[in-house]
Amino acid sequence: MVDDPLFDEHQARGHHPERPERLAAARRAVERCVDEGLRPLMLTPRDATDEEILRAHEPAYLKTLQELEGQWTMLDADTYLSPVSLSASRRAAGGALSLVDALLDQPSPSAAGASSPSVGFALLRPPGHHATRRVGMGFCLLDNVAIAAYGALQRGLQRVAIVDWDVHHGNGTQDIFWQDPRVLFISLHQWPFYPGTGMTTEVGEGEGRGYTVNVPLSEGANDAVYCAAFDQIVLPVLAEYAPELILVSAGYDAHERDPLASMRVTASGYGSMTKKLRAAARTSAEGRLGLILEGGYSLTALETSVAATLRALTADAPEVAGGDGDGAGRDESEDVELHGPVSPRHQSEIDRARRHAQRHWPNL
Ligand SMILES: [Zn+2]
Repeated sequence: MVDDPLFDEHQARGHHPERPERLAAARRAVERCVDEGLRPLMLTPRDATDEEILRAHEPAYLKTLQELEGQWTMLDADTYLSPVSLSASRRAAGGALSLVDALLDQPSPSAAGASSPSVGFALLRPPGHHATRRVGMGFCLLDNVAIAAYGALQRGLQRVAIVDWDVHHGNGTQDIFWQDPRVLFISLHQWPFYPGTGMTTEVGEGEGRGYTVNVPLSEGANDAVYCAAFDQIVLPVLAEYAPELILVSAGYDAHERDPLASMRVTASGYGSMTKKLRAAARTSAEGRLGLILEGGYSLTALETSVAATLRALTADAPEVAGGDGDGAGRDESEDVELHGPVSPRHQSEIDRARRHAQRHWPNL
């Protein structure tokens, strides 16, 4: 786990949904799980260096942030800066990097006696997935998950997957890796909705063509819909790509209680998605799965959903050594039991996204 008190000092002068109380809710989730027996390894995050930030962002944008340091101001109508926001952002991006370092430093699970976890969760603010190469927006200043993915590439990995289940499209992450096949970006998001990107036709360009996969879903998508999208698109694409590390832009604003969005996901749904990604990570990534907090604006939903995620990350799960056939079958029947049927409207949206992605991922 990654956390740091500096994240609490990034705050708006008036009321804003992206507020320090969000992390307090996530911390209560950790405490709940500790009471249940979880023994998380707490990592002290470092600060991301200019060099690490500039892999994902343009120098002119970092210069703008540096010039605004120490001020109360707004980058746009949604995105505030407090005097310490750049410091908090450097620490947040550094926290994501620290998480990646810890995951990559774990011994291989096949090594004799290896028992250290290969999974982790970075609780951090400000969030990052809307920050593009050129500009911060949508409450985001630096793209933490993108900086973390570059950190993994820098350490020698060749294929990193980012799964973004935040209810908003991760336009910043998409922008940063638009032409880069070394990072597969898969986003599930409410459509139409902020920030307006994330159509199925957005697939990347040049060498990166096909390595952006968008699954836009209309309002009301529930656990069943998200799990179906995972089974029918996310997991098959991950199986074909075979990432060496899976990172998650873990926003919790698709929750049914979220005040900003209109989806119907519950804490149980986040647990199910986490289990599926854990199985995928075991198949190709030696179990390495790192979650990085993005949005989520209902404090109750954040607490219950982060707790469900942590339980799913750490629960004993059947080994998937050598294959994924039986495991996938069990998961699907479990989903129908847990989450009910998928509405025809949402199934047609999943089908449409699958058909688009099929041009690049023939196993779909
Ligand atoms: Zn969001």
